[in-house]
Amino acid sequence: MSKIDPVKYGRNTRAVRAGQVRSAEGEHSELIFATSSFVFENAAQAAARFKGDSPGNIYSRFTNPTVRTFEERLAAMEGGERCVATASGMSAILSTCLGLLRSGDHIVSSQSIFGTTVNLFNNILSKFGLQTSFVELTDYEAWEAAIRPETRLLFLETPSNPLTAIADIPRLADLAHAHDCLLVVDNCFCTPILQQPFSLGADIVIHSATKYLDGQGRCVGGAVIGDEKRLEDVFGILRTAGPSMSPFNAWVFLKGLETLNVRMQAHCSNAQKLAEWLEQQPGIEKVYYPGLASHPQHELAGRQQSGYGGIVSFIVKGGQGAAWRLIDSTALYSITANLGDTKSTITHPATTTHHRLTKEQRADAGIGEGLVRISVGLEDIEDLVNDLEAGLLER
Ligand SMILES: *Cc1c(COP(=O)(O)O)cnc(C)c1O
Repeated sequence: MSKIDPVKYGRNTRAVRAGQVRSAEGEHSELIFATSSFVFENAAQAAARFKGDSPGNIYSRFTNPTVRTFEERLAAMEGGERCVATASGMSAILSTCLGLLRSGDHIVSSQSIFGTTVNLFNNILSKFGLQTSFVELTDYEAWEAAIRPETRLLFLETPSNPLTAIADIPRLADLAHAHDCLLVVDNCFCTPILQQPFSLGADIVIHSATKYLDGQGRCVGGAVIGDEKRLEDVFGILRTAGPSMSPFNAWVFLKGLETLNVRMQAHCSNAQKLAEWLEQQPGIEKVYYPGLASHPQHELAGRQQSGYGGIVSFIVKGGQGAAWRLIDSTALYSITANLGDTKSTITHPATTTHHRLTKEQRADAGIGEGLVRISVGLEDIEDLVNDLEAGLLER
């Protein structure tokens, strides 16, 4: 069995089967091609490969069969033409910007994005003549007002981190296209299981594979998905600048994709129960989870996503002291800023992921001192609840 037809098969079949090419050994699982380079049958074949006249591998900075299987599988799951795997989520964003933009171009970005992406836009890309304006994720007038003649790209994450605000992707896609811009969606929180940005009008989808795609905290990696022509430009950056994915990491992510659907369903189910329980606790001021009827974009999330995700944030009454005491009291939750793992994680955004912001910037972004974010894992929900309950009672 080799290439499976993405149109013919459902998403679960693609997640398990797409992209696999068996060797003559007949292995059932995918091979890890742990090789930096490839040999040619003769000098003429080498010349043809280098000239681009004959398809095939040359060097693993460019292509590697294990990496290609991961790319084809993820592209099939997202419903995109082509995927390029990268060494990390950040290098996926960097390669997209370097491949598709040039000096003088302008980006409009949601302000509620991964902190390192803000840093990349503000402090790295700006050195090379790429300017970025930041807007509130759900303020559509602000998005439109920020677009300039030189704007080429709108960038967002939805749901946002850590407050789980939801952006209307079709609405922003229409806005982007009306101004000849690309809509780039970092789909890390939903994965293709819960949200398919291409079907909502996005042009480019980005992943940090480090999160749910691996899902078990083992490897760092990323991916860019989009149409053939634009992805060729992104691939050009990879091929030349080299932030390529290693074959071993590709294999880990490939195996992660096979169980992604069942894991995401379980993450959503646990997160929903935890959010509903948290909302009932007197020590909790407010809970942010798109699956709650109290969430301002609950209805939009239900329309745009096929599940509400695994991230739950909440404000503990009593500010930073109370939030830290709750975090420190837990026995099960890992205190780490990572997310999307089978193991539940707990973090205090104001003093970790968002500590670089000034107090005013944090207040603007809604990141209060009492805010706690949980990435809900796959432990028994009763244990996750009991562990938090003990901490809340102790206060
Ligand atoms: C973690 C993360 C990134 C960066 O990915 P790395 O794999 O850590 O480089 C980008 N976007 C989002 C939404 C993330 O959570």
